[in-house]
Amino acid sequence: MTSPRPDPLQRLAAEQARRAHAQLRRRVRTVATGEGAQIVVDGRRLINFASNDYLGLARHPALVEALVRAAREDGVGAGAAHLLGGHRDEHARLEEALARWTGRERALLFSTGYMANLGAITALAGAGEPGARAEPLLCVQDKLNHASLLDGARLAGCTLKRYVHANVDSAARQLDTYPGDPALLATDGVFSMDGDVAPLAPLAALCRAQRAVLMVDDAHGLGVLGPDGAGSVAEAKLSQDEVPVLMGTLGKALGVSGAFVAGSAVLVDGLVQAARSFVYTTAMPPALAAATCTAIDAARFEGWRRDRLARLIAHFRHGAQARGIALLESRTPIQPVPVGDSTAALAASARLEAAGFYVPAIRPPTVPPGQARLRVTLSALHAEGDVERLLDALAAACA
Ligand code: PMP
Repeated sequence: MTSPRPDPLQRLAAEQARRAHAQLRRRVRTVATGEGAQIVVDGRRLINFASNDYLGLARHPALVEALVRAAREDGVGAGAAHLLGGHRDEHARLEEALARWTGRERALLFSTGYMANLGAITALAGAGEPGARAEPLLCVQDKLNHASLLDGARLAGCTLKRYVHANVDSAARQLDTYPGDPALLATDGVFSMDGDVAPLAPLAALCRAQRAVLMVDDAHGLGVLGPDGAGSVAEAKLSQDEVPVLMGTLGKALGVSGAFVAGSAVLVDGLVQAARSFVYTTAMPPALAAATCTAIDAARFEGWRRDRLARLIAHFRHGAQARGIALLESRTPIQPVPVGDSTAALAASARLEAAGFYVPAIRPPTVPPGQARLRVTLSALHAEGDVERLLDALAAACA
C-alpha cells in the first residue's frame, strides 16, 4: 500500500500557519491614491513613504494626457505579442528613446522587470527553448541582488555563485571557480532594500580582466542617478562595451510600468529570438508606451525633481543623525531604518501608521534573517515638513 498522496493545498495552508506564527505572513492591502504624496489606507490619509515613484511622475498631467490620448486613438490592449502584430509605433518610439537615453545601440521592451531579468539570463544561457541544451553559464551575483536576477539564473540552469555584498574581491573569487566557462556577472545598480549603489566601475574592470559579461539591473537608479537621470551606469560613465547588458524598469522613477533590456543589436536580436518572457507574452499596452515616452522627457528635462529629491535625502539623513536614528549607508531615495527583529519591525510600522505615515516593514526572506527593517523611500512629492514629521514619528516608533 502506498501512503496517501499529500495535498499541495494543505501543504500551502500549513506553510501559511508557519509564516503567521513567525510574524512573516504577507498581506495585500487595498489602498487609494490621495493628494500629492498621500495614500489612503483603510479610509485614513497617510503620507506615503513606501512608493518607488521617486520623481513623482505617476500622476504627472502630461503622462496622464499622453496615456489618455493614445488610448483614445489606439485602444487599450496591444492585442498580441510583439512578434505577432502587437508591436506598435509607440513601442518602437519608446525603445528608441530608451536606447538614446541610456547610450545604448538598441533596447527591447518587456512587460515587467521580473520578466526582463528572466528573459535576458535564460537567453544568454542558451536556455531559450525547451529541449535546447543549455550551454554552461557561470552566473556570479551579489548576495543582495533582486529575486528576479536570482530566479533567472536558476531557471536558466546556470551555475549560480553568489558573492559577499558589493565585495569585488569576493566576486573575483567566484569567477575563478570556473575559469574556463562563459560567465555573466549580474548586479543591481542600486540595491532595492538597502539603497546603496553597486561598485560598478571596479566590477566592470574585473569583468574586463576576466572576460565576463557585466549585467546591471538599474531598476532603482534609472531616473534618479547620473546625468539627466540616465542611471547608475551612466553615472559611473560605463559604456556599452563595459556593461553589455543593461536592464531598467519603467514602473519606478518613470511612474508607469514595464521594463527594457538595452545593449548591442546582437544582444537585442538574440533576446527577440530566445527570451521566452518576451516571445510568449502580450506586448504592454501601447498607451503605456506612449506615456513612458513622455515620462522619459519629464525625467530628463525636469531636473528640479532630482534636485528636490537630493535635498530631501540630505534633510532626512541629517535629521536622523540629529535624533540618533541609525540608518544604512545610502545616498539614494531608498533610506532603510534597520530594526532587526520582524515583530519589532511590524510594531514600529504599525506605530508609524497610527501617527499618519505609511512605511512598511520588510522582513525575511526579502531581507536576510535578523535584518528586518523599515524601508523609507523619499519622493519629489514629499515636502520638507513631511520628512520632518516622519523623523519625529520614527524617533518615537523605534525608541
Ligand atoms: N529589479 C529590481 C532591483 C527591483 O527592485 C524590481 C522591482 N521590485 C524588479 C527588478 C522587478 O521589476 P518589476 O516590478 O517591473 O517587475
